[in-house]
Amino acid sequence: MSNDRPVSEIVPDLIRRFLASSSPTSHPLHTVARELDVLPVCEYDRVYGLNGKGQVVSFKAVPPYDLRIETSVFGRHVTLGYAVWHHPELDGLRPARPQAAQECAPCFGKGRFATSPNDPCPFCGGLAWWPPADWMKGDAA
Ligand SMILES: [Zn+2]
Repeated sequence: MSNDRPVSEIVPDLIRRFLASSSPTSHPLHTVARELDVLPVCEYDRVYGLNGKGQVVSFKAVPPYDLRIETSVFGRHVTLGYAVWHHPELDGLRPARPQAAQECAPCFGKGRFATSPNDPCPFCGGLAWWPPADWMKGDAA
């Protein structure tokens, strides 16, 4: 999809839309999204999402939120995967697949499972590949 709008305009719109379409009782991440001004994207040990500038951030769902710019290669990879899966207008954030990429083993490089074709594979965020292993050496275990 071609889109000339900068991410710094698209993400704040998505945050507003998320807040307008949910409430603290209808969505467990509504309050944290409002208080941190972030777009929740996926949840693992922490919640991963995007801030208004389009940077990958992570935080806890309940206070203290411990908001931080996400630096792990894997955390950034799956977050951007989920983000572009659910928000096609963010396709400019799609990570470029490096030559040394590894096919995502759990989904056999499909980006999804046949049992839930509408959801991205949680191991690769729907991107169907993993960053080269040596890129992830600095990630916390
Ligand atoms: Zn996968």
